[in-house]
Amino acid sequence: MTTGNTARPDGPAIADVVVIGAGAAGLACARRLRQDGLSVVVHEARERIGGRIHTFHPADGGPPLELGAQVVHGDRNPVHALIGAARMTAVPRRVTARIVLDGADQDMGVLAHHRRAPWLLEAQLQAGPGPDGLSAAGWLALRRSTGAERRAAEEWFRQNWAAEPDELSAPGIAAAHRADTAGEGEFAVRGGFDRLPLLLAEGLDVRLGDPVRGLHCGPGLVEARTGRGGTAARAAVLTVPPPVLASGRLAITGLPAEALAAKLAAAAELPLGDGYCLVVTLDRAAPDTVISFDVDGAGGFVRCASGRPEVLFVAKAGAAAALRAAVADRPALAVLLATVLPWTAGAAVTGLSAADWGQDPYTGGAFTAPRTGCADAAARWAAPVADTLFFAGEATMSGSRLPWVHGALESGERAAGELLRVLANR
Ligand SMILES: Cc1cc2nc3c(=O)[nH]c(=O)nc-3n(C[C@H](O)[C@H](O)[C@H](O)COP(=O)(O)OP(=O)(O)OC[C@H]3O[C@@H](n4cnc5c(N)ncnc54)[C@H](O)[C@@H]3O)c2cc1C
Repeated sequence: MTTGNTARPDGPAIADVVVIGAGAAGLACARRLRQDGLSVVVHEARERIGGRIHTFHPADGGPPLELGAQVVHGDRNPVHALIGAARMTAVPRRVTARIVLDGADQDMGVLAHHRRAPWLLEAQLQAGPGPDGLSAAGWLALRRSTGAERRAAEEWFRQNWAAEPDELSAPGIAAAHRADTAGEGEFAVRGGFDRLPLLLAEGLDVRLGDPVRGLHCGPGLVEARTGRGGTAARAAVLTVPPPVLASGRLAITGLPAEALAAKLAAAAELPLGDGYCLVVTLDRAAPDTVISFDVDGAGGFVRCASGRPEVLFVAKAGAAAALRAAVADRPALAVLLATVLPWTAGAAVTGLSAADWGQDPYTGGAFTAPRTGCADAAARWAAPVADTLFFAGEATMSGSRLPWVHGALESGERAAGELLRVLANR
């Protein structure tokens, strides 16, 4: 990777293609275009590549923790081939699994005791999601799910999909699972998930800390405008999450009014649900490896590893807001920690590292979920415009794929293919 914010002088660049965003989708797309012999410039707003792949590396060289994408889903996930099997480790299934329910730390087994466990309910929903327009909350009501079983299932949907169950489309969830070909199991990248973007970016011209503020699309020519001059190219691939466009942080000009209005409408229908991830470093080490699911909705999924001082929170939807508020109020964070992981009671916090996806101007949330009433929004967001502007990114696959890294990679490959076909006929 070369980075334009160091040695390269400011001023406009010229390339065949400009790619906006150096997350999994943008890097996969740029890599494929470059392999096909095109010159490509990638503009990235942040001072790092990877987007929602963001790894925390403890200062003492301990095992990394993920503040964005957590695991590689499935044994046939394309990430295995990209990284190399030797660097992939299966995530152990046998860890101490706990829940927080009614303010108390409990064995996860209580979810299944006279109740249907939330993961079994989600599996049943996949098999029989009900009619178009039915929400996940509506599906649970039809199953006569009540009490703690219902609360656990609703929180499970919130944490897996970063959306409220009454907004989530039950058929959309099922369709995304049905289309997934990544296989079974969960895997970690040894050394951190951030190895993936580093590998994808090798040899690419990526300009870090260089947000695109405006994109002008003329016939056969696009101009990506940044504070350092930007890039003029024959075509552009936009991989930013929809809220970046919907919020006006990136303005598109030069398109027919109806085409632009259609894109803005699609972006507005693809909000990303709230997300907040946090590594808390304590003055003592965990006695055991534990994963806890906070049914009460204050912490999301919480993990610690035996012998390590870090606690990782991965919180979405309402839990993201609750965790954000707890971080702003240290006594509340101490109470939350001691409720979820009683061994932390009385421990001093020596470090906090957060990724606030919900308030991040270059993301605007965790990921997109299939929502009731928005079945074709992702297809409208993905559609190329005027043979010059192409779209990739996790949100372009919403409802047809799971909202994960391998979907983002696939979208980058898809956009590169669309663009190559158009340029070949010009
Ligand atoms: C908390 C959390 C947990 C997750 N867990 C998993 C998991 O376990 N497994 C999994 O596979 N996936 C997981 N995901 C989802 C996964 O991280 C995403 O699907 C994937 O990384 C999205 O890649 P992308 O390229 O589409 O978008 P992004 O990674 O968001 O990339 C878009 C890029 O565009 C840049 N950008 C934005 N605006 C501009 C601008 N104006 N100019 C230039 N650049 C701009 C951004 O900085 C960013 O780098 C998780 C995500 C979150 C947040």
